Amino acid sequence: MSRQAEFDAASQAYYQSQVDISASLLERVASWWRGLSPQRAAEGSPAVVRDFQALVSSSRSRSYAEGVKFHNMAREAATGEPADDSLWDDRDLSAEAGQSRTAYYVHTAPVRGAIKRGRLDDPEFLAELDDIMSSAGKNLADDAGRLAELGGRGALADARENDPEVIGYYRKTDADPCGFCAMLAARGAAYTETRNSSRSTRAFVSEEDPDQYHRNCHCQTLPLFRGVSMPPEDAAKRAEYLARWNATDGSGAEQLRNFQRDFNAERKARRDEQ
Ligand SMILES: [Zn+2]
Repeated sequence: MSRQAEFDAASQAYYQSQVDISASLLERVASWWRGLSPQRAAEGSPAVVRDFQALVSSSRSRSYAEGVKFHNMAREAATGEPADDSLWDDRDLSAEAGQSRTAYYVHTAPVRGAIKRGRLDDPEFLAELDDIMSSAGKNLADDAGRLAELGGRGALADARENDPEVIGYYRKTDADPCGFCAMLAARGAAYTETRNSSRSTRAFVSEEDPDQYHRNCHCQTLPLFRGVSMPPEDAAKRAEYLARWNATDGSGAEQLRNFQRDFNAERKARRDEQ
């Protein structure tokens, strides 16, 4: 396999691993949630919150390990050498647990509100509570998926900042990205400015934060190294989004708004049709 082909394959495998990790976590959270009564869900005892944290944390660890593995494979394909372990900052596990706890309380707030309001012997209220439970569970599962994927994304962000072999990065979008991600992908590769080899003077040339992701987004910010270029499928997506960008009215912030608004409207129409 050529260097570029190895690099392409590693990128694709990493992306797919993240989609799979998130999908399997969503299923596990959904099935755990179905076993909770509305009262227990609303109460959110330490034991219940710990269960949720454990589900997220195991997937986030897998995601992180895939991120490290991918960075090493991509780097080795491009430069002939894997990275040093010192690239990766220690994970802050207590901060991660805090994010899961916050997600739990945010998404279960509607259940708590409902239980305070309604009477548990009123059938109409019970039907309403059922709906509130299922949408809370869906939101919680989606957010769990986002938190898990922060594992790999965090590993790659560390590597991007600490590995002098990384010369740039680009947004790899998922199959059906939002306007924000498509806009980042349209930018193509953002190259790292290297004034000298010292880390502290390296800065990224980008207007937008490459580490912004939202729920149900499987997009990734992937590294580039000398000797390899963006995988062909990502380059093709980039060309497609850039053509759209160039055809979008306005300039500056206005063009940005127009692009995202039109892109998101088309995406919504497509989804509503399904
Ligand atoms: Zn996205």
